[in-house]
Amino acid sequence: MKQPSRPAPVRKQRSRLGCLLLGNPPKAKPEEHYYRCGVCKTSYGPARSRDEARDIQIWHRSDAHRGGAPDGEKIISPEPPTTAELMEPIKTAFVRCGLALFIVAIFIYNAAYGG
Ligand SMILES: [Zn+2]
Repeated sequence: MKQPSRPAPVRKQRSRLGCLLLGNPPKAKPEEHYYRCGVCKTSYGPARSRDEARDIQIWHRSDAHRGGAPDGEKIISPEPPTTAELMEPIKTAFVRCGLALFIVAIFIYNAAYGG
């Protein structure tokens, strides 16, 4: 019996001020997982999660191979994101906060040394 999976957390929408300061929220890439049977040379998918691909794997084993594990079967998952891809959503926020700090520094400089 398969356990029901936990529902995905609800992401809050970013407000207009949040979008102005931090940029638009990043769009999540759809994950596509595939199951490939090495004996039948057949691929199934895309599945939305690795668990869903495993369910396909179990179904295929019982349907085509009487429950046995065929040689060369594998679940193909997308590559994990690189560091640059992980930093991309906060790049805009970093640049805007740096610009805001620069403007505040100019105001402080003018207040201290300006006429
Ligand atoms: Zn097969």
